[in-house]
Amino acid sequence: EAKAKGRNTYHFYSQELDAAANERLFIENELRLAIKARQFVIFYQPQVDSRTQHVVGYEALIRWFHPTEGMIPPTKFIPIAEATGLIVELGAWVLQEACEFAARLAAQGRENNISINLSARQFKDAKLVPLLASIIKKTKVSAKRLHLELTESMLMGNVEAAITQLHQLKALGVSISIDDFGTGYSSLSYLKRFPVDILKVDRSFVKDIPDDPNDMEITAAIIAMAQKLKLNVVAEGVETIEQVEFLQNNNCFIVQGYYYSPPIAEQDLPKLFAKLDD
Ligand code: C2E
Ligand code: MG
Ligand code: MG
Ligand code: MG
Repeated sequence: EAKAKGRNTYHFYSQELDAAANERLFIENELRLAIKARQFVIFYQPQVDSRTQHVVGYEALIRWFHPTEGMIPPTKFIPIAEATGLIVELGAWVLQEACEFAARLAAQGRENNISINLSARQFKDAKLVPLLASIIKKTKVSAKRLHLELTESMLMGNVEAAITQLHQLKALGVSISIDDFGTGYSSLSYLKRFPVDILKVDRSFVKDIPDDPNDMEITAAIIAMAQKLKLNVVAEGVETIEQVEFLQNNNCFIVQGYYYSPPIAEQDLPKLFAKLDD
């Protein structure tokens, strides 16, 4: 009996694994075609100064609109793009698009910061620095407006190589953000070794403010620490006025989250400007 049950359980799991493997294979195959087929779009989420309600920047967040599957979220395909190496081509497309967007904004007199997520492979790629240099030159975007978002885990491992790469990126004039800060393993003293400019407080700490006193302590501590290290700080995942006020009371004024706006398509920016930026 137990054996039969075990076999059934196994059968059940293996069917689930097959489904997951098939989905993975499907995404991998479709990814190869999707860039050429122009199925990707970048959405932009404003970063707002809560004191003035003005937009100070945008984070570029990729979206995949598949003709039969509909919207496939980045959490589903970025890891596969990363594992297969397709992320290098996809990431280059994101850099190019986001810089063209920044140039269009600047032409409208809106010189805002643009944050771009880098993947681990992209960051390690020796071609990243020359690629970014050429995109900056071609698009004439102001390098100091570009913020590259990395995660703590991408700085671990080969620390010396990471520091060298960061210095080369910074020599182009761009800034470096640590995304999802607090969810990785890096200690403070460790962080000091890296030439970074901005910490983004992870949404997981913000989301239960003001209900979870631990999360409030952690968030306040991250902000205080960022200030001591002379880093700018951005809070992500801000959804309520209570969270905005808590952050203000703790000296964090640049916020990003549904409270102000979800990520939106470029053609929807005028509506956003009507609400926030004019
Ligand atoms: P992330 O860089 O930490 O981006 C923030 C995520 O939080 C985004 O999810 C955003 O839509 C979501 N978010 C923003 N405000 C709120 C809020 O108030 N509440 C909630 N519940 N969520 C909020 P998204 O766009 O699905 O992206 C997920 C992750 O995928 C990103 O996390 C980033 O790690 C990765 N990603 C997105 N675009 C790119 C890209 O172009 N390149 C790379 N390498 N990774 C990307
Ligand atoms: Mg990010
Ligand atoms: Mg983040
Ligand atoms: Mg996150």
